[in-house]
Amino acid sequence: MAEYIRCPICEAVNIDTKKEIYCRRCKQKIYHDKGYSYQLTLAYLITGMILFVPANLYPMLTTNTLGEETTSTIIGGILLLWEHGSYPIALIILFASVFVPILKFIMISYLLISSRYGRLTQKVNKQKLFYITEIIGPWSMIDVFVVAILAALVQLSIVKIEPGPATTAFALMVFFTLLSALSFDTRLIWEKNR
Ligand SMILES: [Zn+2]
Repeated sequence: MAEYIRCPICEAVNIDTKKEIYCRRCKQKIYHDKGYSYQLTLAYLITGMILFVPANLYPMLTTNTLGEETTSTIIGGILLLWEHGSYPIALIILFASVFVPILKFIMISYLLISSRYGRLTQKVNKQKLFYITEIIGPWSMIDVFVVAILAALVQLSIVKIEPGPATTAFALMVFFTLLSALSFDTRLIWEKNR
């Protein structure tokens, strides 16, 4: 009986010839071993988590109220905006620069832990895990969009993004978290029961 292997890029099922395989749909090379997927995902995740600290500790936002400029951290800026009644902007910044990164950290950690230590005997668990990998993809981009929105807010001169350590750390954090999510090979989920 022929064995099958799933393309990690486009999910197409291919016949496993045990030799070099190129996906019949997207022509990508399919590797048999999962390589360093787990280690890479973990390394990028830790890097992202570490960068989350300076991104929040250093000043990033300059709020301008009645000609008075105040420099503050992300959280400080959010609180200032809230006090001044800019609720939607405060909520968007809170959601994208605090909640989304933390949510991604939790989801990727959960994936890593489950793929290695979890008892994936139940079909439901596997499906749930796979679903997480499916939603991490699009969600990875949310904070990128918000950085773009923040940059647009500069024009409104309510909030200014201050170029500095926090901005660099934030951008790198988004980048490494994205790399982490992309490095996770979903085959790690199924592998355990083989
Ligand atoms: Zn493919």
